[in-house]
Amino acid sequence: HHPAHDLHEHGVAAIRNFLRCHTCYDAFPVSFRLIVLDTKLTVKKALQCFLLNGVVSAPLWNSQTSSFAGMLTVLDIIHLIQYYYRTTDFERAATEVETFRLESLRAIERHLGVAPPPLTQEHPSNSLFDAAKLIIQTHARRLPLLDSDSETGQQVVISVLTQYRLLKFISINCHKEIQQLHLSLKRLRIGTYVMSPSPDPSNPYFPLATAKMDTSVFDIVHIFSERSISAVPIIDEDGVVLNMYETVDVITLVRLGAYQNLDLKIREALTQRSSDFPGVVICTASDSLGTLLQLIKKRRVHRLVVVEGEEEEKRGGKKGRLLGIITLSDVLRYIVGHADISEPRMKPSTASTEAP
Ligand code: ATP
Repeated sequence: HHPAHDLHEHGVAAIRNFLRCHTCYDAFPVSFRLIVLDTKLTVKKALQCFLLNGVVSAPLWNSQTSSFAGMLTVLDIIHLIQYYYRTTDFERAATEVETFRLESLRAIERHLGVAPPPLTQEHPSNSLFDAAKLIIQTHARRLPLLDSDSETGQQVVISVLTQYRLLKFISINCHKEIQQLHLSLKRLRIGTYVMSPSPDPSNPYFPLATAKMDTSVFDIVHIFSERSISAVPIIDEDGVVLNMYETVDVITLVRLGAYQNLDLKIREALTQRSSDFPGVVICTASDSLGTLLQLIKKRRVHRLVVVEGEEEEKRGGKKGRLLGIITLSDVLRYIVGHADISEPRMKPSTASTEAP
Protein backbone atom coordinates (compact mmCIF):
# COMPACT_ATOMS: atom_id res chain seq x y z
CA HIS A 1 0.00 0.00 0.00
CA HIS A 2 1.13 3.51 -0.87
CA PRO A 3 1.23 5.70 2.27
CA ALA A 4 -0.84 8.42 0.54
CA HIS A 5 -3.48 5.82 -0.18
CA ASP A 6 -3.48 4.70 3.45
CA LEU A 7 -4.00 8.25 4.63
CA HIS A 8 -7.04 8.59 2.39
CA GLU A 9 -8.47 5.27 3.55
CA HIS A 10 -7.94 6.35 7.13
CA GLY A 11 -9.86 9.56 6.49
CA VAL A 12 -12.79 7.67 4.97
CA ALA A 13 -12.88 5.19 7.84
CA ALA A 14 -12.88 8.05 10.37
CA ILE A 15 -15.81 9.73 8.61
CA ARG A 16 -17.78 6.48 8.59
CA ASN A 17 -17.10 6.15 12.26
CA PHE A 18 -18.22 9.71 12.84
CA LEU A 19 -21.53 8.86 11.12
CA ARG A 20 -21.95 5.75 13.25
CA CYS A 21 -21.44 7.77 16.42
CA HIS A 22 -23.98 10.48 15.64
CA THR A 23 -27.73 10.36 15.29
CA CYS A 24 -29.98 12.09 12.79
CA TYR A 25 -30.96 14.50 15.59
CA ASP A 26 -27.35 15.69 15.74
CA ALA A 27 -27.52 16.94 12.16
CA PHE A 28 -30.61 19.08 12.72
CA PRO A 29 -30.12 22.81 12.50
CA VAL A 30 -30.67 24.76 15.71
CA SER A 31 -34.00 25.97 14.46
CA PHE A 32 -35.95 24.88 11.42
CA ARG A 33 -39.42 24.76 10.04
CA LEU A 34 -41.05 21.77 8.48
CA ILE A 35 -43.62 22.01 5.72
CA VAL A 36 -46.01 19.07 5.57
CA LEU A 37 -48.65 18.86 2.84
CA ASP A 38 -52.08 17.30 3.18
CA THR A 39 -52.77 14.72 0.46
CA LYS A 40 -56.10 16.45 -0.24
CA LEU A 41 -54.28 19.56 -1.47
CA THR A 42 -54.23 20.27 -5.20
CA VAL A 43 -50.99 20.16 -7.14
CA LYS A 44 -51.40 23.87 -7.84
CA LYS A 45 -51.52 24.73 -4.13
CA ALA A 46 -48.60 22.42 -3.41
CA LEU A 47 -46.47 24.09 -6.09
CA GLN A 48 -47.36 27.52 -4.75
CA CYS A 49 -46.32 26.35 -1.32
CA PHE A 50 -43.00 25.04 -2.67
CA LEU A 51 -42.31 28.34 -4.39
CA LEU A 52 -43.37 30.53 -1.49
CA ASN A 53 -41.19 28.65 0.95
CA GLY A 54 -38.24 28.00 -1.31
CA VAL A 55 -38.41 24.22 -0.90
CA VAL A 56 -38.50 21.46 -3.53
CA SER A 57 -39.95 18.59 -1.53
CA ALA A 58 -42.22 17.97 1.44
CA PRO A 59 -43.63 15.04 3.42
CA LEU A 60 -47.27 14.20 2.69
CA TRP A 61 -49.84 13.67 5.40
CA ASN A 62 -53.06 11.69 5.07
CA SER A 63 -55.40 13.34 7.55
CA GLN A 64 -58.09 10.67 7.16
CA THR A 65 -55.83 7.98 8.54
CA SER A 66 -53.57 10.43 10.43
CA SER A 67 -50.51 8.93 8.87
CA PHE A 68 -47.45 9.74 6.81
CA ALA A 69 -48.06 9.26 3.09
CA GLY A 70 -44.61 9.51 1.52
CA MET A 71 -42.75 12.48 0.07
CA LEU A 72 -43.76 14.89 -2.66
CA THR A 73 -40.75 15.78 -4.79
CA VAL A 74 -40.04 17.66 -8.01
CA LEU A 75 -39.80 14.33 -9.80
CA ASP A 76 -43.48 13.64 -8.98
CA ILE A 77 -44.43 16.88 -10.69
CA ILE A 78 -42.25 15.98 -13.67
CA HIS A 79 -44.10 12.68 -13.98
CA LEU A 80 -47.42 14.47 -13.87
CA ILE A 81 -46.44 16.92 -16.60
CA GLN A 82 -45.19 14.09 -18.72
CA TYR A 83 -48.38 12.13 -18.28
CA TYR A 84 -50.53 15.04 -19.40
CA TYR A 85 -48.36 15.80 -22.36
CA ARG A 86 -48.79 12.29 -23.59
CA THR A 87 -52.50 12.10 -23.20
CA THR A 88 -54.03 15.51 -23.74
CA ASP A 89 -53.70 18.98 -25.20
CA PHE A 90 -52.07 22.00 -23.59
CA GLU A 91 -55.29 23.70 -22.52
CA ARG A 92 -56.59 20.65 -20.72
CA ALA A 93 -53.23 19.88 -19.23
CA ALA A 94 -53.00 23.35 -17.73
CA THR A 95 -56.40 23.17 -16.05
CA GLU A 96 -56.28 19.52 -15.02
CA VAL A 97 -52.80 19.57 -13.58
CA GLU A 98 -53.83 22.43 -11.36
CA THR A 99 -56.96 20.76 -9.98
CA PHE A 100 -55.30 17.41 -9.50
CA ARG A 101 -55.02 16.26 -5.88
CA LEU A 102 -51.75 15.01 -4.45
CA GLU A 103 -53.35 11.73 -3.33
CA SER A 104 -53.89 10.80 -6.99
CA LEU A 105 -50.24 11.09 -8.01
CA ARG A 106 -49.57 7.42 -7.34
CA ALA A 107 -52.06 6.44 -10.03
CA ILE A 108 -50.15 8.55 -12.56
CA GLU A 109 -46.90 6.81 -11.70
CA ARG A 110 -48.52 3.42 -12.20
CA HIS A 111 -49.81 4.58 -15.58
CA LEU A 112 -46.38 5.82 -16.66
CA GLY A 113 -44.74 2.66 -15.40
CA VAL A 114 -42.25 4.62 -13.31
CA ALA A 115 -41.31 3.56 -9.80
CA PRO A 116 -43.37 5.13 -7.01
CA PRO A 117 -41.32 7.12 -4.52
CA PRO A 118 -40.22 4.96 -1.61
CA LEU A 119 -42.18 5.17 1.64
CA THR A 120 -38.93 4.72 3.50
CA GLN A 121 -38.56 6.45 6.84
CA GLU A 122 -36.21 6.45 9.78
CA HIS A 123 -36.38 7.24 13.47
CA PRO A 124 -34.39 10.42 14.22
CA SER A 125 -32.40 8.80 16.99
CA ASN A 126 -30.94 6.20 14.66
CA SER A 127 -27.38 6.72 13.47
CA LEU A 128 -26.50 8.95 10.53
CA PHE A 129 -24.65 6.01 9.06
CA ASP A 130 -27.81 3.90 8.93
CA ALA A 131 -29.77 6.84 7.54
CA ALA A 132 -27.16 7.43 4.82
CA LYS A 133 -27.17 3.73 3.92
CA LEU A 134 -30.94 3.77 3.63
CA ILE A 135 -30.89 6.84 1.38
CA ILE A 136 -28.42 5.14 -0.95
CA GLN A 137 -30.11 1.74 -0.96
CA THR A 138 -33.55 3.16 -1.71
CA HIS A 139 -32.38 5.98 -4.05
CA ALA A 140 -34.61 8.16 -1.88
CA ARG A 141 -32.34 11.26 -1.94
CA ARG A 142 -34.04 12.43 1.25
CA LEU A 143 -35.21 10.58 4.30
CA PRO A 144 -38.27 11.58 6.33
CA LEU A 145 -37.62 11.19 10.05
CA LEU A 146 -40.63 9.95 11.98
CA ASP A 147 -41.33 9.36 15.63
CA SER A 148 -44.51 8.26 17.38
CA ASP A 149 -46.43 10.31 19.92
CA SER A 150 -45.94 8.63 23.31
CA GLU A 151 -49.54 9.35 24.35
CA THR A 152 -51.57 8.66 21.23
CA GLY A 153 -49.13 6.33 19.49
CA GLN A 154 -49.66 8.35 16.32
CA GLN A 155 -46.95 9.06 13.78
CA VAL A 156 -45.22 12.42 13.98
CA VAL A 157 -43.06 13.79 11.16
CA ILE A 158 -40.04 15.34 12.87
CA SER A 159 -37.83 16.42 9.98
CA VAL A 160 -36.38 15.37 6.65
CA LEU A 161 -32.73 14.44 6.27
CA THR A 162 -31.41 15.36 2.83
CA GLN A 163 -28.24 14.24 1.10
CA TYR A 164 -26.99 17.80 1.17
CA ARG A 165 -27.53 18.19 4.92
CA LEU A 166 -25.74 14.93 5.59
CA LEU A 167 -22.71 15.84 3.48
CA LYS A 168 -22.65 19.37 4.85
CA PHE A 169 -22.70 17.98 8.39
CA ILE A 170 -19.66 15.86 7.52
CA SER A 171 -17.88 18.77 5.84
CA ILE A 172 -18.36 20.99 8.91
CA ASN A 173 -17.41 18.45 11.54
CA CYS A 174 -14.74 16.30 9.89
CA HIS A 175 -12.35 19.05 8.92
CA LYS A 176 -9.17 17.06 9.62
CA GLU A 177 -10.44 13.89 7.94
CA ILE A 178 -11.46 15.76 4.80
CA GLN A 179 -7.94 17.06 4.34
CA GLN A 180 -6.81 13.44 4.15
CA LEU A 181 -9.15 12.69 1.26
CA HIS A 182 -6.76 13.64 -1.48
CA LEU A 183 -7.33 10.81 -3.96
CA SER A 184 -8.90 11.99 -7.20
CA LEU A 185 -12.56 11.67 -8.12
CA LYS A 186 -11.61 9.73 -11.23
CA ARG A 187 -9.54 7.24 -9.31
CA LEU A 188 -12.29 6.78 -6.74
CA ARG A 189 -14.84 6.37 -9.56
CA ILE A 190 -17.20 8.85 -7.95
CA GLY A 191 -19.81 9.93 -10.51
CA THR A 192 -21.00 8.82 -13.93
CA TYR A 193 -18.49 9.14 -16.77
CA VAL A 194 -18.54 9.11 -20.56
CA MET A 195 -17.41 5.76 -21.95
CA SER A 196 -14.98 5.82 -24.81
CA PRO A 197 -15.56 4.40 -27.27
CA SER A 198 -19.29 4.81 -26.76
CA PRO A 199 -21.23 1.54 -27.03
CA ASP A 200 -24.23 3.53 -28.29
CA PRO A 201 -23.67 5.06 -31.75
CA SER A 202 -26.56 7.50 -31.30
CA ASN A 203 -25.09 8.89 -28.08
CA PRO A 204 -21.35 9.68 -28.10
CA TYR A 205 -21.63 10.68 -24.42
CA PHE A 206 -23.08 7.36 -23.27
CA PRO A 207 -24.08 6.70 -20.49
CA LEU A 208 -24.66 10.42 -19.88
CA ALA A 209 -27.95 12.02 -20.87
CA THR A 210 -27.23 15.37 -22.54
CA ALA A 211 -29.08 18.03 -24.52
CA LYS A 212 -28.33 20.85 -26.95
CA MET A 213 -29.47 24.46 -26.92
CA ASP A 214 -32.19 23.65 -29.45
CA THR A 215 -33.59 20.63 -27.58
CA SER A 216 -37.13 21.34 -26.34
CA VAL A 217 -37.88 21.53 -22.64
CA PHE A 218 -40.39 18.75 -23.10
CA ASP A 219 -37.76 16.38 -24.50
CA ILE A 220 -35.70 17.00 -21.41
CA VAL A 221 -38.73 16.42 -19.17
CA HIS A 222 -39.00 13.02 -20.81
CA ILE A 223 -35.35 12.26 -20.04
CA PHE A 224 -35.81 13.33 -16.39
CA SER A 225 -38.81 11.06 -16.03
CA GLU A 226 -37.43 8.07 -17.90
CA ARG A 227 -34.03 8.05 -16.23
CA SER A 228 -35.02 9.42 -12.82
CA ILE A 229 -32.30 12.06 -12.90
CA SER A 230 -32.43 15.71 -11.87
CA ALA A 231 -30.25 17.46 -14.44
CA VAL A 232 -28.79 17.24 -17.94
CA PRO A 233 -25.71 19.07 -19.16
CA ILE A 234 -26.30 21.31 -22.20
CA ILE A 235 -23.44 20.90 -24.65
CA ASP A 236 -22.38 22.35 -28.02
CA GLU A 237 -21.35 20.46 -31.18
CA ASP A 238 -17.91 19.74 -29.71
CA GLY A 239 -19.29 18.47 -26.43
CA VAL A 240 -18.21 21.60 -24.57
CA VAL A 241 -20.49 22.22 -21.58
CA LEU A 242 -22.54 25.42 -21.98
CA ASN A 243 -25.04 25.05 -19.18
CA MET A 244 -27.15 22.64 -17.17
CA TYR A 245 -30.91 22.17 -17.17
CA GLU A 246 -32.48 20.96 -13.93
CA THR A 247 -35.83 19.58 -12.78
CA VAL A 248 -36.36 22.71 -10.66
CA ASP A 249 -36.10 24.82 -13.81
CA VAL A 250 -39.14 23.02 -15.21
CA ILE A 251 -41.13 23.78 -12.09
CA THR A 252 -40.39 27.50 -12.31
CA LEU A 253 -41.35 27.47 -15.96
CA VAL A 254 -44.64 25.77 -15.21
CA ARG A 255 -45.34 28.12 -12.31
CA LEU A 256 -44.69 31.11 -14.54
CA GLY A 257 -47.89 30.16 -16.29
CA ALA A 258 -48.27 28.53 -19.63
CA TYR A 259 -47.65 24.85 -20.04
CA GLN A 260 -46.96 25.77 -23.66
CA ASN A 261 -43.63 26.89 -22.21
CA LEU A 262 -42.54 23.28 -22.35
CA ASP A 263 -42.36 23.57 -26.13
CA LEU A 264 -39.63 26.15 -25.70
CA LYS A 265 -36.13 25.40 -26.82
CA ILE A 266 -33.63 25.28 -23.98
CA ARG A 267 -31.97 28.40 -25.37
CA GLU A 268 -35.18 30.38 -24.68
CA ALA A 269 -36.03 28.59 -21.45
CA LEU A 270 -32.68 29.56 -19.96
CA THR A 271 -33.43 33.27 -20.45
CA GLN A 272 -36.43 32.85 -18.11
CA ARG A 273 -34.33 31.46 -15.34
CA SER A 274 -34.35 33.50 -12.16
CA SER A 275 -31.36 35.77 -11.68
CA ASP A 276 -30.35 34.01 -8.48
CA PHE A 277 -29.46 30.80 -10.34
CA PRO A 278 -26.17 29.88 -8.69
CA GLY A 279 -24.53 28.73 -11.94
CA VAL A 280 -23.07 25.45 -13.08
CA VAL A 281 -20.31 24.09 -10.89
CA ILE A 282 -17.50 22.52 -12.85
CA CYS A 283 -14.60 20.33 -11.79
CA THR A 284 -12.00 18.09 -13.39
CA ALA A 285 -11.54 14.38 -12.77
CA SER A 286 -8.19 15.00 -11.11
CA ASP A 287 -9.77 17.10 -8.34
CA SER A 288 -9.78 15.37 -4.98
CA LEU A 289 -12.74 14.23 -2.91
CA GLY A 290 -11.50 16.50 -0.12
CA THR A 291 -11.73 19.57 -2.37
CA LEU A 292 -15.26 18.60 -3.33
CA LEU A 293 -16.34 18.29 0.31
CA GLN A 294 -14.78 21.67 1.08
CA LEU A 295 -16.87 23.13 -1.70
CA ILE A 296 -20.01 21.51 -0.26
CA LYS A 297 -19.21 23.21 3.04
CA LYS A 298 -19.09 26.62 1.37
CA ARG A 299 -21.82 26.38 -1.22
CA ARG A 300 -25.11 24.65 -1.63
CA VAL A 301 -23.97 22.58 -4.63
CA HIS A 302 -26.09 19.66 -5.75
CA ARG A 303 -24.13 18.42 -8.71
CA LEU A 304 -20.91 19.08 -10.58
CA VAL A 305 -20.08 18.67 -14.22
CA VAL A 306 -16.74 17.02 -14.86
CA VAL A 307 -15.00 18.50 -17.89
CA GLU A 308 -11.68 17.99 -19.62
CA GLY A 309 -8.98 20.11 -18.04
CA GLU A 310 -5.37 20.93 -18.83
CA GLU A 311 -4.32 17.33 -18.27
CA GLU A 312 -6.69 16.04 -20.98
CA GLU A 313 -5.85 18.98 -23.24
CA LYS A 314 -2.19 17.95 -23.24
CA ARG A 315 -3.27 14.56 -24.53
CA GLY A 316 -5.19 16.13 -27.42
CA GLY A 317 -8.49 16.73 -25.65
CA LYS A 318 -10.55 19.88 -25.64
CA LYS A 319 -10.81 22.09 -22.60
CA GLY A 320 -14.35 22.25 -21.24
CA ARG A 321 -15.57 19.12 -23.00
CA LEU A 322 -18.00 16.95 -21.05
CA LEU A 323 -16.47 14.00 -19.22
CA GLY A 324 -18.95 13.17 -16.51
CA ILE A 325 -21.37 14.24 -13.83
CA ILE A 326 -21.11 13.96 -10.06
CA THR A 327 -24.19 14.24 -7.86
CA LEU A 328 -24.58 14.21 -4.09
CA SER A 329 -25.76 10.61 -4.16
CA ASP A 330 -22.51 9.60 -5.89
CA VAL A 331 -20.47 11.24 -3.13
CA LEU A 332 -22.62 9.79 -0.37
CA ARG A 333 -22.49 6.32 -1.93
CA TYR A 334 -18.71 6.40 -1.87
CA ILE A 335 -18.56 7.67 1.71
CA VAL A 336 -20.98 5.06 3.02
CA GLY A 337 -19.18 2.36 1.06
CA HIS A 338 -20.64 -1.04 0.36
CA ALA A 339 -23.84 -1.53 2.28
CA ASP A 340 -22.58 -4.59 4.10
CA ILE A 341 -19.30 -3.17 5.38
CA SER A 342 -18.87 -3.71 9.05
CA GLU A 343 -16.00 -1.89 10.64
CA PRO A 344 -15.09 -1.83 14.30
CA ARG A 345 -16.60 1.10 16.12
CA MET A 346 -13.88 3.50 17.21
CA LYS A 347 -14.15 6.13 19.90
CA PRO A 348 -15.48 9.36 18.41
CA SER A 349 -12.72 11.91 17.94
CA THR A 350 -14.88 15.03 18.20
CA ALA A 351 -17.01 15.55 21.24
CA SER A 352 -19.09 18.49 20.12
CA THR A 353 -20.54 18.94 16.69
CA GLU A 354 -21.92 21.79 14.70
CA ALA A 355 -25.14 21.58 12.77
CA PRO A 356 -25.23 22.87 9.19
P1 ATP B 1 -30.88 14.94 -6.48
O1 ATP B 1 -32.05 14.68 -7.36
O2 ATP B 1 -31.28 15.39 -5.11
O3 ATP B 1 -29.84 15.80 -7.10
P2 ATP B 1 -29.03 12.70 -6.82
O4 ATP B 1 -27.84 13.17 -6.06
O5 ATP B 1 -29.33 11.24 -6.74
O6 ATP B 1 -30.29 13.48 -6.26
P3 ATP B 1 -29.50 12.54 -9.68
O7 ATP B 1 -29.39 13.64 -10.69
O8 ATP B 1 -30.83 11.97 -9.46
O9 ATP B 1 -28.90 13.15 -8.34
O10 ATP B 1 -28.45 11.39 -10.09
C1 ATP B 1 -28.66 10.01 -9.86
C2 ATP B 1 -27.56 9.18 -10.54
O11 ATP B 1 -27.60 9.39 -11.95
C3 ATP B 1 -26.13 9.55 -10.11
O12 ATP B 1 -25.37 8.36 -10.01
C4 ATP B 1 -25.59 10.41 -11.24
O13 ATP B 1 -24.20 10.27 -11.43
C5 ATP B 1 -26.38 9.91 -12.44
N1 ATP B 1 -26.71 11.02 -13.35
C6 ATP B 1 -27.09 12.27 -13.02
N2 ATP B 1 -27.32 13.03 -14.10
C7 ATP B 1 -27.06 12.24 -15.17
C8 ATP B 1 -27.09 12.44 -16.59
N3 ATP B 1 -27.45 13.62 -17.13
N4 ATP B 1 -26.78 11.40 -17.37
C9 ATP B 1 -26.43 10.21 -16.84
N5 ATP B 1 -26.37 9.96 -15.54
C10 ATP B 1 -26.68 10.95 -14.69
